[in-house]
Amino acid sequence: MVTFLSGGTGTPKLLSGADAVFEPAETTVVGNTGDDVELGGLLVCPDLDTVLFERGGVLDRETWWGIDGDTHETNEYLLELASAAGLETGPRYLPDACQTDGREIARWRRFSGIAEFMTIGDRDRAVHLTRTGLLDEGRSLTEVTRTLADAFGLAIDLVPMSDDPLATMIHTDRGEMHFQEFWVAHRGEPAIERVEFRGEARATEAVLTALEDPVVIGPSNPITSVGPIRAVRGVEERLARVPVVVVSPFVEDRVFSGPAGDLMAASGYEPSTAGVAECYPFADAFVLDDGDGTTLDRPVVRTDTAMDSREDAERVARAVEEALGGID
Ligand code: GDP
Repeated sequence: MVTFLSGGTGTPKLLSGADAVFEPAETTVVGNTGDDVELGGLLVCPDLDTVLFERGGVLDRETWWGIDGDTHETNEYLLELASAAGLETGPRYLPDACQTDGREIARWRRFSGIAEFMTIGDRDRAVHLTRTGLLDEGRSLTEVTRTLADAFGLAIDLVPMSDDPLATMIHTDRGEMHFQEFWVAHRGEPAIERVEFRGEARATEAVLTALEDPVVIGPSNPITSVGPIRAVRGVEERLARVPVVVVSPFVEDRVFSGPAGDLMAASGYEPSTAGVAECYPFADAFVLDDGDGTTLDRPVVRTDTAMDSREDAERVARAVEEALGGID
């Protein structure tokens, strides 16, 4: 049995070839939900959905989000309509009072659907409608995610990090904003002052059980993808008790993609593999790139960690297996 902690790019890439190494029926993936938002009343779970779509064989692999070949008629028309109505486009938070009202799971990240600032495809939207409908019928996010995973034919067990809300808020020189506003609407440009995980999320039975097995932290963003999972009550203690292998999302001080460097620096870590190792004191071994000469105080397995294909991912998964095997 093995458990992966996942964000929405690096770890899903690893998962695309991990099934050749780790039996899917014995693999659990715990997905970050700090990035989730409620948009026009629909709960959007970007990291869970990337794993859902990738493992379900429908992911748009150019962007690593959304469904391949999806159309965007509704999203485009929402923008047209907002312009025609003279409504300001860009993220439109619902009023403060609404942020803690209604559906608990969506607290502190509620946006109106006007001009829909995230690009939601038409099929993608059907997934969010189904998810939100099932939540409104009284099911937990864990149950709903498993139902969707069955619909997409997933062989692994995909679960959210919690059934409680936890919102990743970025405090910047342009004010406080949800991670999706920072990343999607402002392209990660505002200077980051600090990162806050808003909410008190508890681990579910599914997550606590999964964290009795060896854990693989794929090359995900340590601050905004793995940070929220660690902030869930009960998770950090478990990580200290089980074997943990980390795949670095850096090659020395270079990231493959995304804002991990700036977020690490703003959180007091060197934006590098050395900083990643410092950030994860509970990690027992690391997988680093062949070109990464960082010296660490824990065992290291090296391989080419660039993952552009399933074969690449399988190679990195084999290095993970080797690193796990070397832990006492
Ligand atoms: P997000 O939710 O989209 O931010 O995705 P993740 O947190 O799961 O992944 C983002 C991280 O993946 C970034 O820090 C990248 O450096 C890393 N990453 C992306 N592609 C690769 C790759 O091919 N190899 C490795 N080692 N890391 C990658």
